[in-house]
Amino acid sequence: MARIQENPTIQLALSVAVLLVIVPLVAFAWQPDREPLDLDPVPEVTSLVLEPGQSVAAPGSSLTLSVKALFADGTGLDVTNGEDGASYTVSDEASVIIDGGGRFHVAEGAPIGQRIEITAIYQDQRATASILILYWLADTVHTNEEGVPVVTNADSITVIVNKERNLPASYEPADLVRPDVAFSSSGDREKHYLRQEAAAALEALFAAAAEDGIELVAVSGYRSFETQARIFEYNVRSNGGDEELANRWSARPGQSEHQTGLAMDVSAESVSCALEADFAEAPEGQWLAANAHRFGFVIRYPQGKEDITGYGYEPWHIRYVGETVAQQLTEAGLTLEEYFTR
Ligand SMILES: [Zn+2]
Repeated sequence: MARIQENPTIQLALSVAVLLVIVPLVAFAWQPDREPLDLDPVPEVTSLVLEPGQSVAAPGSSLTLSVKALFADGTGLDVTNGEDGASYTVSDEASVIIDGGGRFHVAEGAPIGQRIEITAIYQDQRATASILILYWLADTVHTNEEGVPVVTNADSITVIVNKERNLPASYEPADLVRPDVAFSSSGDREKHYLRQEAAAALEALFAAAAEDGIELVAVSGYRSFETQARIFEYNVRSNGGDEELANRWSARPGQSEHQTGLAMDVSAESVSCALEADFAEAPEGQWLAANAHRFGFVIRYPQGKEDITGYGYEPWHIRYVGETVAQQLTEAGLTLEEYFTR
């Protein structure tokens, strides 16, 4: 060490090193507000505006929000993006992905009906906006070569099948299982099956009913395109060949919600397990109407909505849509068709 201290060249090099490296490092580390070496002080921000405050976005889509900072002197600055722009957080990172610069991407599997909150942060100021995950009815149907309107989201828990929206003839859910509930018919039949998520929800629904002293009976669930074709033909024949008449209450093949594997006709011994309007007056029917939404089901064809759903009142036909949508539908008194065209 003594030799080094005596060498003037090394001493000079050491001094230069201290000046060039250590002093700036220490100075940087000691910056009390931890701001990077910013020579232009940013004026104080009094508030942030994140727009639009509410938006609707479909799974798989992208959207852009803008952020404006308002200063004490009344001026404003767009801080949506850029190096010194706003940063963002989302309430559900699996459903909405931050793409940077105010751009957001909605995941394909984002749950329909969920509201995602986005927060923009700029200089200690925050602003929030909400995105409702939803698609429009018209965006989930296309007309095939035969001129038939076919849904594009057959596997979605919220798929809407009606007289204007067919399932593909070949559609069969891949996850059909037999729920462990009481059935009106014996054996192992096609109509005892539901898609996995709906089956689990039906078991929970029946168990909750039993706890309240209500004994529900499952009558008819999944129905293939071929089965529906046979049923419709039979109903047409028994109505003197009048297809229009039969179609008032019997679905054409491809237009039955039962083909989705998400619908179950439910009845009770007290009405001989019949699928008739009487069920609505029975204690079991009343319990079902009051509680189905808690388990993600809705009464799909309510009274007074025939013009919208295309079918008369069916107090026995419940449809699984997931808890979020079921709660919102029930609270608002909407049909599925209305929910997706608001
Ligand atoms: Zn039904």
